[in-house]
Amino acid sequence: MAHAHGLLTAAFLLLAVHAMPAGAQETKLRLPDGVTTFADGRRPIEALYHSYLKLLDCGWTLEIIADSQPAGATAALPIIALRSPQSGAAVWILAGIHGEEPAGPNALAAVIEDIARLGRQRPVVLLPLLNPQGYARNWRYLNVAIYSDLIEGHSVGDSSHLLPSPDNPGSPRAASASSPEADAITAFVLRAGADYPPLYSIDLHEDNLIDQGYVYSQGELGFADPLATEAVSVLKNNGVPIKLGGETRFGEPVVGGIIGPVIDSSIDELMSGKDVIVNGRVQPGPAARTVLVFETPAAALTLERRVDAHAALIRRLLALIATASD
Ligand SMILES: [Zn+2]
Repeated sequence: MAHAHGLLTAAFLLLAVHAMPAGAQETKLRLPDGVTTFADGRRPIEALYHSYLKLLDCGWTLEIIADSQPAGATAALPIIALRSPQSGAAVWILAGIHGEEPAGPNALAAVIEDIARLGRQRPVVLLPLLNPQGYARNWRYLNVAIYSDLIEGHSVGDSSHLLPSPDNPGSPRAASASSPEADAITAFVLRAGADYPPLYSIDLHEDNLIDQGYVYSQGELGFADPLATEAVSVLKNNGVPIKLGGETRFGEPVVGGIIGPVIDSSIDELMSGKDVIVNGRVQPGPAARTVLVFETPAAALTLERRVDAHAALIRRLLALIATASD
């Protein structure tokens, strides 16, 4: 296999695992040697993968969704998905879409045992580090480091090529995916969603331009989703300042720390989408009932405290979901 970075020793992480279709063949998850992770206290990328792959011991399935190597990256890094042994209406957990938001991927590594436990009770799909290049480099997007009004950032979660245009619902908002990564990730959502249709979707984010956090609730119940209310309460109890009213920096109204469904072409909008457009045809979308996106204020709290808050939040939500009657 040709590789820009040459030697692939990856002694720390060379695992034989079962690839899709289940049991049909073996694949190896390799990381290039000597990846440097941005140093702000976030865990090295190798340590994160090591933690996530503990789920393989519990019978989970690993899939490499894409090898991400945007312009300027010296070596490809894998974007992985992990699925619990049991399929069916599932809890989807996403993190690391924006590379400068390390709390979510670090918190998932810390609560991997809780995720394993949930996977014994319910179908679960884990997408723990969706922008590994961004994580390693502290870049928000694939093509640019920070959010800017001037340069369009290519988000790995961009779903505009699958979501109906508000003006013309028979057409998508974009003719094609904005990156190979976004193409592969959104295709995975639709493909894996056939066997693991998302009932709950939880996406962990941060916002370094605010000093108060908030929760998007993009599912059926919007502002009224009790899990969104619970999330606000857990964040508050873990010392996260919450924006209770007014607007987000994108002009979205906030009520009690919660923002209702928004049109932002994100993977969360895709998760909640009733319709999607694939190859020019309208088809039913994932339509997850609960879709939550958490934003903790990165400027106001240390990384350690944000990781702790995310971990507490995931533990609480997973405990509630584990016992929910649906
Ligand atoms: Zn984000």
